Amino acid sequence: MSKLEIDWYCDSCNAYMNNQPGFNRRGGYWTCTECGFRNDVTDGNIYYDEETINSMTPGELNKVNKAYEAFDKRYAKKYSDDYMLADYCRGGDLTEDD
Ligand SMILES: [Zn+2]
Repeated sequence: MSKLEIDWYCDSCNAYMNNQPGFNRRGGYWTCTECGFRNDVTDGNIYYDEETINSMTPGELNKVNKAYEAFDKRYAKKYSDDYMLADYCRGGDLTEDD
């Protein structure tokens, strides 16, 4: 689907997953065969380096941004408590306009 070659590493044990038996991204998740950790392998979990981003067309960039947004929404739902805490801390830093 994507012309970009992506290397996937387990978020838990850092194993290279592309060559694990049966590896695919169809479900959006891949369970690491080394440690059993369920990794998010959707487009939103891909981090591109600056060179790659600069070589993308506006259409490709748009797709990448959409994927990131979808990932952020899922992540925010899963870790909403952490997000609320982060917002609270950020708010505390903005007290210099008195
Ligand atoms: Zn693993």
